[in-house]
Amino acid sequence: MTRLYGGIEGGGTKFVCAVGTGPEDIRAEVRFPTTTPDETLGRAIAFFQEQHAVTPLASIGIGSFGPVDLRPGSPTWGYITTTPKPGWPFADVAGPIQRALDLPVAFDTDVNGAALGERRWGAAQGLDTFIYLTIGTGVGGGGMVEGRLMHGLVHPEMGHILIPHDREADPYPGRCPYHGDCFEGLAAGPALEGRWGARAETLPADHPAWALEAKYLADALVTFITTLSPQRIILGGGVMSQPQMFPLVREMTRARLNGYVQDAAITERIDEYIVPPALAGRAGVLGALALAEVVA
Ligand code: ADP
Ligand code: ZN
Repeated sequence: MTRLYGGIEGGGTKFVCAVGTGPEDIRAEVRFPTTTPDETLGRAIAFFQEQHAVTPLASIGIGSFGPVDLRPGSPTWGYITTTPKPGWPFADVAGPIQRALDLPVAFDTDVNGAALGERRWGAAQGLDTFIYLTIGTGVGGGGMVEGRLMHGLVHPEMGHILIPHDREADPYPGRCPYHGDCFEGLAAGPALEGRWGARAETLPADHPAWALEAKYLADALVTFITTLSPQRIILGGGVMSQPQMFPLVREMTRARLNGYVQDAAITERIDEYIVPPALAGRAGVLGALALAEVVA
């Protein structure tokens, strides 16, 4: 009998819960806004209890917004930690799900989940070192090094690297509550809105916003390429749904590397090196199913 998995894409704006085995086999799915932890997790639990009663689930995977505690053995493992999102600092996410359903629970960052989903079914199949970045309400990054999801001390915070900021060319101070003009502070969707006074999705394709955005992304990617040596970089999130962004980011990244990293993946095939998620808007929830599969 096929084993079914449960997956939760826990975002700061919405939660998506699904039951199934992969992209071609989603048996049920619900989505609802992220309100209080009690209400939001309660809705997720109710959905899985209902599904579990019909066809037993083998495990549940959770890809969560963060920062999160992933340290094995930590008393707050499975918690969201220092988020600025009201009501959610130090909220236990994995615990209530695990107790209500009494199933193995995998818990990781949303971006590590999405990265695993892309490796299982999408744009990172066959790779062992790659990164997945989302450029949306925030900027987050995850991925694998030599076949293992990156965790380390806490987990990577690739959105908070520091990148060059020419304050004469771009006086916008940035909006990261911790660092001001870090990568996320300069380049997440809300920074575009703050800098240009209009929501990112309303800015025309020839607006100067996009060349500046691509420059910040290219600067960040050069840092990731030179530190992690990823075999591919997957860029998702609302801001990357602008079709002009991929060609700009690829060209600026190649120009900034200036021939230093000598591999045909970059010098000749950059179109296949910096790519959108193959699972598109479903990378998050499918990634959560991929996380579940690992602990089943
Ligand atoms: P989240 O990060 O909350 O999961 P998204 O990835 O959709 O969600 O990111 C939302 C951000 O992306 C907002 O700042 C929004 O303005 C921006 N955004 C959404 N759609 C587009 C678009 N088509 N073009 C540019 N920016 C967009
Ligand atoms: Zn920051």
